[in-house]
Amino acid sequence: MFENKENRTELSELGEFGLISHIAASTEIHNSGTLKGIGDDGAVMDAGGKKVVVSTDMLVEGVHFDLSYTPLKHLGYKSVAVNLSDIYAMNAHPGQITVSLALSSRFSLEAVEELYDGIHLACEKYGVDLVGGDTTSSRSGLVISITAIGYAGEEELVYRNGAKETDLICVSGDLGAAYLGLQLLNREKQVFMENPGIQPDLAGNDYLLERQLKPEPRQDIIVSLKKMGVKPTSMIDISDGLASEILHLCTESGTGCQLYEEKIPVDVKTAVLAEEFNMSPVTCAMSGGEDYELLFTISIGDFEKVKSMKDISFIGHVTEKASGCFMIEKGGQAIAIRAQGWDGLKTE
Ligand code: ADP
Ligand code: MG
Repeated sequence: MFENKENRTELSELGEFGLISHIAASTEIHNSGTLKGIGDDGAVMDAGGKKVVVSTDMLVEGVHFDLSYTPLKHLGYKSVAVNLSDIYAMNAHPGQITVSLALSSRFSLEAVEELYDGIHLACEKYGVDLVGGDTTSSRSGLVISITAIGYAGEEELVYRNGAKETDLICVSGDLGAAYLGLQLLNREKQVFMENPGIQPDLAGNDYLLERQLKPEPRQDIIVSLKKMGVKPTSMIDISDGLASEILHLCTESGTGCQLYEEKIPVDVKTAVLAEEFNMSPVTCAMSGGEDYELLFTISIGDFEKVKSMKDISFIGHVTEKASGCFMIEKGGQAIAIRAQGWDGLKTE
């Protein structure tokens, strides 16, 4: 991606303003609420009487991503997706993003274009407008900071702190796959570095790789919940593993919880690869990361409505704070839930 010299336009040929104009020219607007996008001192949005939700994430090369196996287009897509996931977790709809980049001279115009191809693709898919950002140089790696702006009626917003005793704990999709996708990429990178003649063996693992490289925020879940007339009592997106996120919900809500190991959704492909890595699939779900699924609670009276929804698992219930946060293992034993996050997992 950086080696193709023939097709390489140096960023210095364009300069900062040339690069920004280039980005602006390839950017489309999808929302009537976007009144002014790229090009002025500030972007202007019409919130239409709604509440405004803002969320920011920064991604740093070498910490959050590894360019030796992450295609720039995927990186652009994922950077947007993880930000939109935060907005959906507030039960809001994103309308705009800003993208700020620190670029080293290693990046050519073509590389920046690839990154923006992914950014634009995610914007198009989720109906979001790129309305601004900042561009600066970096002496080391690539840094991408994205801010997403979303909207919701005041009564629609869902916070982390609304869970009540007896509420059911629900999770969308399946967990642990993105973490194993990352293990797989790291393993093949290691093999390749030790023996460049050997081609990476990633065959048959498309699902796990896609979960790692191209996560999708769960807009569909908040749309279906609304259709069913269900508003979660609390919600969070799963970026650092189920254990850490359920503890956030319980701490913020002043409750305890009981999860059931056997109810935690894990895809068979995740289970198979976990075994290959000598790991427990449930550990990957609890302490892996980057699943970008939604974890939410509903009042028990809404169970009948949510029961029929696709792709939602009921994994436990909310208890009083004094009972603590536990997972009931398959054998019936209760173990305390500890937040480990995927950084902790790495050193195991
Ligand atoms: P200022 O000097 O006023 O901060 P800039 O020259 O940095 O303005 O930016 C000019 C316009 O281009 C602004 O609308 C800004 O939001 C936008 N912009 C700058 N960098 C990027 C980027 N990497 N992606 C998208 N828009 C950008
Ligand atoms: Mg600026």
